[in-house]
Amino acid sequence: MLDHYHEMLDHAEWFRERNVVIIPHGSLVEYLGSDKFGALEVPTFGNRGILHWESSRARQRQWLESGGCTMPRVLEDPHDIDGPVIVKYAGAKGGRGYFIARDYRDFRRNVDIEEEFTIQEYVLGCRYYLHFFFDPTAEDGFQVQGRGKHAGKNLGRLELMSMDRRDESNVDEFYKLGSLRDLREMALEPSFVVTGNQPVVIRESLLPRAFEMAEGTVAASFELEENSRGMLGPFCLETIVTDQLEFKVFEISARIVAGSNPFVGGSPYSDINETRMSTGRRIARSIRKAADDNRLHDILS
Ligand code: ATP
Repeated sequence: MLDHYHEMLDHAEWFRERNVVIIPHGSLVEYLGSDKFGALEVPTFGNRGILHWESSRARQRQWLESGGCTMPRVLEDPHDIDGPVIVKYAGAKGGRGYFIARDYRDFRRNVDIEEEFTIQEYVLGCRYYLHFFFDPTAEDGFQVQGRGKHAGKNLGRLELMSMDRRDESNVDEFYKLGSLRDLREMALEPSFVVTGNQPVVIRESLLPRAFEMAEGTVAASFELEENSRGMLGPFCLETIVTDQLEFKVFEISARIVAGSNPFVGGSPYSDINETRMSTGRRIARSIRKAADDNRLHDILS
């Protein structure tokens, strides 16, 4: 038993001797920090290089937009606020510390200018967190088409595993206390702290666009740098669907996410390929198959 994620670095040899493969999750990356995670000399499922692109909002935007995803508009100048915006601090995690402003005055009243922040258009709609899996070693199924240097190549198989929606406290229950104005009078501000996950399915006609976005995101990941190994394994597109049935992607998590927890026994989407196929089991399957085919180097970093 280790007291701290950091201590894993002192036990790298112990892990390697036992053929351990690290499956990174959000907490591991968060508590270890990207430098230490990069320095951990233990075979890790997925491409650790993608962390560089995932770890900054600006780089994520470059990646997702080059993959064809539409993202919420960013406002460089707070004077341009002309409708609801969400202000995100650079270090904020799990939606903690965000605030909503309706105009410049609101912004001024709430902002902490000592902190680095981005101002994003507040997208009104329903949130869906889409869990995909990309397997570069599989030659069947929905194949991601390469772009640029990889044009004309099948990059691997893309699967939709499941979808969830996060419960966020207190914003999800805010409406019960009245309008935003009433709430302000009570000195209450909405917060976005994740407290749970609910399984969902989306309107079926949205699925082709969901696949298109995921395919573009995977294909673009191979183009981010010279000789990029791309992103592989599980990833989650965090989206809002507007009443115009448009997806706005506000974030990507390039690893297994907590939202896959309601689906340890499978989901309505993964059941189509194979029943009881959780994301965890899909990762295990990928490792087993790569080991049997002598291709572990294609899925580990
Ligand atoms: P995590 O890394 O845990 O996913 P985070 O701190 O990076 O969280 P985001 O995922 O960016 O935070 O956002 C947290 C929540 O804020 C979202 O789940 C959503 O409810 C809300 N949100 C974020 N961006 C927008 C937006 N542009 N419009 C409307 N709501 C938003």
